[in-house]
Order: sequence, then structure tokens, then C-alpha cells
Amino acid sequence: MRIYTNNDRFMVWQVKQLLDEHKIPCFIKNEFASGAMGELSPLDCQPEVWLNDASWQARAETLIEQMQEHTAIEWVCSGCGETNGGNFEVCWQCGQETHVDQ
Ligand SMILES: [Zn+2]
Repeated sequence: MRIYTNNDRFMVWQVKQLLDEHKIPCFIKNEFASGAMGELSPLDCQPEVWLNDASWQARAETLIEQMQEHTAIEWVCSGCGETNGGNFEVCWQCGQETHVDQ
């Protein structure tokens, strides 16, 4: 069964990796399905993460939710004031690691 899809292949890989880490059997479908550069790929060709076994669904959904909450938290760099996504550990702009406490 399909557990996750996103047209951002990086996010799909993150989910796959997350499930792997928790020993949840899964695989990626449509990994190479997106069209050539500049071509819009139809929705049903997005890369997808599938579970081998639907009994893992609840566990997998919880993990994915947690991951998305984590990556949604943005932080502001104290070096240059740039706003960074929660998935960045250092400022993408200036490379500084310190966060401004909010
Ligand atoms: Zn910065």
C-alpha cells in the first residue's frame, strides 16, 4: 500500500530512509518517473513510498508525521538573519550553526 508521496524526490527518500531506520519494510515506486527537464510530470507519476505490509501503516504514519513536524520548524540565523528550514543544521546562507532563541 502507498504510505507517502511527494513530487520532491528528496522528501520521498527521507521517508524511505526513516522507515528503513525503524525496520519497516518499504520500497519506492516511480522513482525515475518524472519527465525530462522542464516537463511537468502528472500527479500519478510522482515518486511514492509503499509499504510491503499494511500492518505497518499506523507506525509509519506516526513516524512520517513526526518527521514533518520536525522539518517544519524554521529557525533564524544569528549571523546573517536568514530563515532556515528545520531540516538544515547550519545556515544555508553563511554556514553558521548558532540559532537565535525565540
Ligand atoms: Zn546565516
